[in-house]
Amino acid sequence: MKVIVSMLSVIFTLAIVGPVFSEDNAAMQAPAVTTEKTVEVGNKICPVSGEKVVAGHEGKIEYQGKVYNLCCQMCEKDFNKDPQKYIEKLQKMEQEAAGSEQAK
Ligand SMILES: [Zn+2]
Repeated sequence: MKVIVSMLSVIFTLAIVGPVFSEDNAAMQAPAVTTEKTVEVGNKICPVSGEKVVAGHEGKIEYQGKVYNLCCQMCEKDFNKDPQKYIEKLQKMEQEAAGSEQAK
């Protein structure tokens, strides 16, 4: 009789712990995926004003999983008005910066 009882308790434990454990996993994976998606662009020029981003004074904005550096909070508002425009501008500026560095 004792064996049956202990076997039952094992089955019970598995039945209870099993689903709880997998739910836990799903809950833990969800935020991890969100952080993985966020990429620091690390641009040194503010796409809104064209000013250099000063470390310690920069604003940051997240758009479509990417974090862009801005020179100040005022530029954050402008960026939000037309993010796509400023991202394209930034990409052009980065290309030009890379080009001028190669020319030197
Ligand atoms: Zn600014």
